[in-house]
Amino acid sequence: MEKIRYERPVIFKMNTGLMNKFGTKTNNEPVTHIESVPVKSMLSQYGSPMFVISEKQIRRNYQNAIRIFKTRYPKVQFAWSYKTNYMNAVCRIFHQEGSWAEVVSGFEYEKALYNNVPGNKIIFNGPDKSDEDLIKAAQNNSLIHIDHYDELYSLIRLCEEHKLKPRVAIRVNMDTGIYPKWDRFGFNFENGQAWNALTRIINSENLQLVGIHCHIGTFMLSPNAYAVAARNLSELAWSVKERFGIMVQYIDLGGGFPSTNTLKGAYLPGTDTVPSIDQFADAITDVILTYGFTQDELPMLILETGRALIDDAGYLLGTVLATKRLSDGRRATIMDFGLNSLFTSLWYDHKISPAQKNTNQTEDMVMFGPLCMNIDVVRESINMPMLQKGDQVVVHKVGAYNMTQWMQFITMRPNIVLIDNDNNTHIIRKAENLEYIQALEEIPIHLK
Ligand SMILES: *Cc1c(COP(=O)(O)O)cnc(C)c1O
Repeated sequence: MEKIRYERPVIFKMNTGLMNKFGTKTNNEPVTHIESVPVKSMLSQYGSPMFVISEKQIRRNYQNAIRIFKTRYPKVQFAWSYKTNYMNAVCRIFHQEGSWAEVVSGFEYEKALYNNVPGNKIIFNGPDKSDEDLIKAAQNNSLIHIDHYDELYSLIRLCEEHKLKPRVAIRVNMDTGIYPKWDRFGFNFENGQAWNALTRIINSENLQLVGIHCHIGTFMLSPNAYAVAARNLSELAWSVKERFGIMVQYIDLGGGFPSTNTLKGAYLPGTDTVPSIDQFADAITDVILTYGFTQDELPMLILETGRALIDDAGYLLGTVLATKRLSDGRRATIMDFGLNSLFTSLWYDHKISPAQKNTNQTEDMVMFGPLCMNIDVVRESINMPMLQKGDQVVVHKVGAYNMTQWMQFITMRPNIVLIDNDNNTHIIRKAENLEYIQALEEIPIHLK
C-alpha cells in the first residue's frame, strides 16, 4: 500500500453567529479599561484626546509572530519598521525583544543609533539616501539595501573615494499578482533589471553582496503573493550561487502583513477576513525550504513587519465636543480628534467603543473631527449609542502609522502614554505646546 503523504495540519480561526438577517451584530459594549487601567482616569490625568500604547500587547504580538516563524524555519530575524511607529519607547521594546531596526531615511537611521541599535543591525531601505547617509551606513557596517542604479553608482564611487567595503542587498520589485503593481521601489525582477544589478554588485570591487530584499506592498491580504515573492528571491539567490559561487546570507521579505483593522468598504470585519500570520509564514517558508538549498546554505529569513505587530497595541481616547442634526436629518457627533491625529481613518473603519455605559438606544451617525475642513471625517457611518457632549470613546487598533503620519494642523498633537507590564502609565511623548510649535519660526525684523 502506498504510504500516505504527510501534510502539516493547519488551524484556521472560524467565526460563526456574527451575521444575522439584520447584518452584523453591533457591539457597543463600553470599554472602561485598557490593560486594567481605567480609561476615564487616564483621560482626566493626561487630557483629551490622548494616545495609549500597551507594552504587554506589543510584546505578545512580537513573541507570537517570531514563534510562528521560528517553528517553521531555522534562521529568522525581525527588523522593526521605524516609520510604522518610531516613538523611542516603542522602538526600544522591539529592540529588547530582539528586533533589529529597519529605516528609510537618514533621520530614522539616527533614531536607530540613538536607540542603541548596533550599526550592523540596522537595515537601510528607501530611495532617499544622501552621500553622507551612505558613507555613515557603510562605516557602521549597516545593511544598505540599494533602491536604484543612481544609488548603486554613487555607492561604487563613494567606496573608492573613502575606501569602504559596505554590505549591500538590492531591493527587488515584481509582479506578485496584486494590482496596481508596486514597481516604483527597487529593481524589477521580470525584466532582468534585478539580475543585472546583482551582477554589477558582484563585479564591483568593493561591494559585498549579502542579501536580497523585497517589500511587496502593505496590508497585503494574499499569502500567495508572499509565496511568489519568496520564489522569485530564492531564484535570484540560486542563480547567484550557480553563476558566481556566492551564497547570499539572507532573504528579506519586507513587511506588509495586515493588522485586523477593517478596510473601508469591506463587507466583513477585518477580524474575520484577514489571513493569520501562520498562513503568511507557511506560504513563505514552504517555498524557501523546498527550493533546493542545502541545510547549510539556507539563507537567514528577515522580516520587517510593521503594522501587524503594533496596530492593536494602540488606542486613541477622545471626547464628544457636540452633537447636531445635519440638513438631511442624520445625527452627527463631533469629536476632539480627527484626521490630524487619526490619519488611518482615511483607510480604515476603526472600531470605536463608548467609554461609559450609555443608553441602549443606538443610531447610525456620522462622526466628525474638530478641524475646519470638509474631509475631517472619522467615520462616515457608525452605529453607536446616542453619545452626548462630554461622553468619551476609545478608538481601537491605531498603533501603526498614526503617531508618525499625524498632522500638526489647527490643533496640537496630544500626549502619548505607555501602559507598562505592571500597568503603570508613562508619558512617552508630551502633548505639544505653543512654545514647541513656534520654536523654529523666525520673524523678520520689519514685522517685529
Ligand atoms: C513600510 C515598510 C515596512 C513595514 O510595512 P508594514 O506594512 O507596516 O508591515 C517594511 N519594509 C519597508 C521597506 C517599508 O517601507
